[in-house]
Amino acid sequence: MSAVEGREAVAMREPADVVAAVVRPEVRALAGYVVADADGMIKLDAMENPFTLPHELRAQIASVVKDVAVNRYPDGGARAVKSALRKALALPDSLGLVLGNGSDELIQIITCALARPGATMLAPDPSFVMYRLNALYAGMRFVGVPLAANFTLDRDAMRAAIERERPALVFIAYPNNPTGNLFAAETIVDIVRRAPGLVVIDEAYYAFADASFLARVVEFPNLVLLRTVSKIGMAGLRLGYAVAAPEWTAELDKLRPPYNLNALTQAVAPLLLAERALLAEQAATLKAERARLAAALAALPGVAPYPSQANFVLVRVPDAPRWFESLRGAGILVKNLHGSHPLLEHCLRITVGTPDENDALLDVLRALR
Ligand code: PMP
Repeated sequence: MSAVEGREAVAMREPADVVAAVVRPEVRALAGYVVADADGMIKLDAMENPFTLPHELRAQIASVVKDVAVNRYPDGGARAVKSALRKALALPDSLGLVLGNGSDELIQIITCALARPGATMLAPDPSFVMYRLNALYAGMRFVGVPLAANFTLDRDAMRAAIERERPALVFIAYPNNPTGNLFAAETIVDIVRRAPGLVVIDEAYYAFADASFLARVVEFPNLVLLRTVSKIGMAGLRLGYAVAAPEWTAELDKLRPPYNLNALTQAVAPLLLAERALLAEQAATLKAERARLAAALAALPGVAPYPSQANFVLVRVPDAPRWFESLRGAGILVKNLHGSHPLLEHCLRITVGTPDENDALLDVLRALR
């Protein structure tokens, strides 16, 4: 082949041919995580905190943002955020802390650290879909262990799966998404003790739950506790954190992109994390609204809400696709889980909104036939 012919052959190739030749087949087969378009909608689909910030606090944010040197890289160690978190959590110096661009990034980092050829990730099923997806991204085998029909952890099935699969990594969401319940703490401890590798307890919804493993991280050599500020009013900042023995956080920190927390987040997060009273008050309001919403849903014919310790309610309805569409037609976005898992037939996941938003949702549902 002459040089000219060679250049022509290169030019003839279509992007799709090159993609097909080099992108992993399992990646090409993916649909990707779809974020619903929610312009102008009442957003009860993504477990955000629905409250806006008080005016004075917004003014304070504006004044710190004004002085951020966006021409410079942010502090690679995100020291201001770390110290604000250590203070807010009363974290002992003996524990390590790693920050992520959302806890999504930490799930990716943890998976990446443990994904060697043949290694297995194990998680109850249904649970947060990003665990399974990250296993796929990293080339790790994923094993889902079905929850019992009432969404509790099946202790014997988990024990058997740990024996059989010897997972390098176990993810447990506490409370669980999308079911909303807290698994029995003694079953989780049993799993942590039996697991040959790392167990991650993902407490994304800790602010709305009556229990946490934070104080128990020191007890176990193979436990990482994961949290996010997304559900307590800072989803837009993208900040998640992992708490564990320093031996673990030192390894995870190596896989963290050097400037993963942007300068604006680093300036604003400490301000909001210091607003303990405001955050607590919003969480308390959402817990009260959760109870009101669940009771109102239970009063509808054929509707069964499941107990929740999170800022959303999983509810089984007579016809989830139709109910979802009716809500969407009325400008209200929820999550339709029908078809995503056999245990979730005709289930919707409804994020707890403001009292007005919840009333709007209930009005639509009461009018449905
Ligand atoms: N863990 C669980 C259980 C979740 O439900 C979510 C959000 N849906 C996340 C982690 C990720 O949260 P973020 O990336 O916003 O911190």
